[in-house]
Amino acid sequence: MDWTTHSIKILENGYKTGQAASYIANLLGTTKGSVVGKAHRMNFKHPGAILTIKSPKIKQPEVVHSTIGKCQYPHGHPKDAGFYFCHKQVKTNSPYCLKHYAICYRVGKQ
Ligand SMILES: [Zn+2]
Repeated sequence: MDWTTHSIKILENGYKTGQAASYIANLLGTTKGSVVGKAHRMNFKHPGAILTIKSPKIKQPEVVHSTIGKCQYPHGHPKDAGFYFCHKQVKTNSPYCLKHYAICYRVGKQ
């Protein structure tokens, strides 16, 4: 394909108005690949091209650290800087460690 000013103009108009590359190729008597390649080199933006651009992957929120199996007993107030969870190994089937389980459920003090 010899690209003349005239054929480039046809390419540009066709491409920018969203005509199919194969259609433009037909008009110019060339191949679709030639049209796409030339348009790319000329930096012509096809309005339909935006549809083929892969959307950026949405980042999954990272789990900083798992609290599963860790004592959820809070120390201090959640609004205070020094606030933290106990995070000791929990008693089986409980959100708390043995010590805090005893505090929360008053084991043996019924
Ligand atoms: Zn605890």
